[in-house]
Amino acid sequence: MNKKALIVTFILFISTTCTFSQNSVDKGLDSITKEKAMEYIGILAHDSLQGREAGKEGGLKAANYLKSELENIGIKPWRGKYFQPFSGSRYGGTSNKNPNMQNILGYIQGKKSDEIVIIGAHYDHVGIRPNNTNDSIYNGADDNASGTSAVLQVAKAFVESGEKPERTIIFALWDGEEKGLLGSFFFVEDHFSYIPIPMIDAIPIKGYINLDMIGRNKNEDATTHVIAYTTKNRPILNEWIKGDIETYNLDLTPDFQPSDQLPGGSDHMPFDQKGVPFIFYFTDMHPDYHKASDHADKINYDKVTAISKIAFLNLWKMANEAEY
Ligand SMILES: [Zn+2]
Repeated sequence: MNKKALIVTFILFISTTCTFSQNSVDKGLDSITKEKAMEYIGILAHDSLQGREAGKEGGLKAANYLKSELENIGIKPWRGKYFQPFSGSRYGGTSNKNPNMQNILGYIQGKKSDEIVIIGAHYDHVGIRPNNTNDSIYNGADDNASGTSAVLQVAKAFVESGEKPERTIIFALWDGEEKGLLGSFFFVEDHFSYIPIPMIDAIPIKGYINLDMIGRNKNEDATTHVIAYTTKNRPILNEWIKGDIETYNLDLTPDFQPSDQLPGGSDHMPFDQKGVPFIFYFTDMHPDYHKASDHADKINYDKVTAISKIAFLNLWKMANEAEY
């Protein structure tokens, strides 16, 4: 083969590989739909799930539903079990006030299993509480059926892409967030104390994406607004977000906030404390926050769908880029 032919072949090879990869991303993106967001949030925020309080009947119903959805999508249980049970407090107390809490964990095996990335959202909410209205069920459609729906859609998108990621990906649905970030703290502590082979360190977590309350508009004009908290010393995360919103024409206006400006907690915290770079999407506070009126019919489904797509694109990079 002469030099020219060699170059042509090389260019053809490169463009074919890129096209393949591009098609995989597109296949994943196309599988994320508004209809599916409506279905998931409708089911999770239905009165029959009684506000999904951790350790209560409604919370367990939600857990069983999510486990069966991961199974249907084709996501395998992490370390052989979808449920990661825990109880007590994250401060190491012996409190057993809320037994029967469980994270739900699934994964896709990467080409190299010595690094993992994680996307997570809490699925629990605050249950049933008497108040001064005739509705005592706190459905938690925005907080956080919205983020939960996104994790399920992103999991499906990776399966639909047909491509094996470089790093192993864990899809996590946290329990007990509303009781003090119990599930995510339990997972992180457990993860870093689990040594698969003696003398070898725990498997490093390369990146984390958190989704908590991604379905509302902070005011009438904020139909595409989303806050993106990103780890302060990793500007590349913001570049990824801007770049992919433009490339894939997503209807989102990101409001970048450094991670040290975070008001209050969510499940990115235990990861941040371990130095794991993270992206946390949040569409801001609204009058139905922690009220029985946080209902599914108030959700901006176009926005939830667009955030699910950008989260998929971010996780694709976290799982596949050599360095960041
Ligand atoms: Zn929340």
